[in-house]
Amino acid sequence: MSDVKVLTARWGKKDSHTLASYKADGGYGALEKALSMPQPGIVEEVKISNLRGRGGAGFATGLKWTFLPKDIRPRYLCVNADESEPGTFKDRYIIENDPHMLLEGIAITCYALDIHLAYIYIRGEFPKQAAALEQALAEAREAGIIGKKLMGKDFDLEVHVHRGAGAYICGEESALMESLEGKKGYPRLKPPFPAVVGLWGKPTIINNVETLANVPWIVKHGGAAFAALGTGKSGGTRLFGVSGNVKRPGIYEKPVHYNLKKLIMEDCGGTASGRPVKAVIPGGSSSPVLRGDEIDVSLEFDAIKAAGTMSGSGGVIVMDDSVCMVRVLSRVTKFYAEESCGQCTPCREGTPWMESLCEKIEHGHGVPGDADKLLDMANHIGGFTICALGDAASMPVQSFVKKFKDDFERHIAEHRCPFGEGAWGVSQDSREAVIGGMRA
Ligand code: SF4
Repeated sequence: MSDVKVLTARWGKKDSHTLASYKADGGYGALEKALSMPQPGIVEEVKISNLRGRGGAGFATGLKWTFLPKDIRPRYLCVNADESEPGTFKDRYIIENDPHMLLEGIAITCYALDIHLAYIYIRGEFPKQAAALEQALAEAREAGIIGKKLMGKDFDLEVHVHRGAGAYICGEESALMESLEGKKGYPRLKPPFPAVVGLWGKPTIINNVETLANVPWIVKHGGAAFAALGTGKSGGTRLFGVSGNVKRPGIYEKPVHYNLKKLIMEDCGGTASGRPVKAVIPGGSSSPVLRGDEIDVSLEFDAIKAAGTMSGSGGVIVMDDSVCMVRVLSRVTKFYAEESCGQCTPCREGTPWMESLCEKIEHGHGVPGDADKLLDMANHIGGFTICALGDAASMPVQSFVKKFKDDFERHIAEHRCPFGEGAWGVSQDSREAVIGGMRA
């Protein structure tokens, strides 16, 4: 398996965030090459690369780009930097360590798609990263890279950084556009999809930070070379952010089809406690949980889907056997209940119900049948809502109850938490792990 670093090759270098450092390493060479190519040729290379969206859904990027209607202008690019899924912490490091790589990806994408205005929608809680982007943009403008006449070519491009106000739901693409338009971040009904009716009613492409950061490498080395780093319909490498009960938490750049068990047991050194792995959330808090005996699986989008879960945003959360799964689910359900925008009934009403029932069981006040009731609630939310938050809230409940029913039944039978009141497990540990920083 290849050890090529597409995204993290420059991390850790002195002043890697500056234009001078980026250019010294050949930065913006891919943009120069792209500007000499026919625009459809760039799109074709991205299609050949098998690049799939790194924000969660894993949709084919090149194919998404072809959904833009041919004759409607203006078109917009929205860069989704609203990284808020619990357990996910990779985009912020791309922005901190190599903001010009992202800007180059944005510039190439805009040129390829004939887009002259791009917005980077960044999570409100990322002031440091927003400042890093503003600084990089100022450098790129000053150098004549972004702005009037892209690198001297007769093509204008403006890029704006827009800070969100701290709502998880604004990472959902249609809510993101509503927020950009100055409205409440309410998700829109789809179809129409943003590529056809997007920002201010115009065709809009929305891509995640990591997705676009791959584009310069693809242009420089060719789509086929990128595809060869991965497997089947999934090309390249991706960033996996590992947190929770592991010896070496952090960010790991690995081929897209890397094995989850290998990542946890070899790269991360196994559990920090030396105890067995009890559970793994493989792709951010909304992805269905795996039992410790189910983790010998490829992280590639389709392979892990066949295993009943998803690699989502690449946020891997590891729990050892001291962790109380009811308590973890309690924290997860609280998050989704707080972040529901309240627009549709199953999500607005159902997520707090799940939270309160989960909390009741956690504190030993549950009664026989409560675990099934929890499952029933989840089954009446997922698939019945305007946006995917309903599914995101339901999938953890469904998988936790199905796979760790014994934890729930023991709380009910013993009228207490069998793991002890201090067993915060993943909540506290993952926070510490995230703060622990990067490891490429
Ligand atoms: Fe809002 Fe939840 Fe409905 Fe999404 S599913 S639109 S977050 S109420």
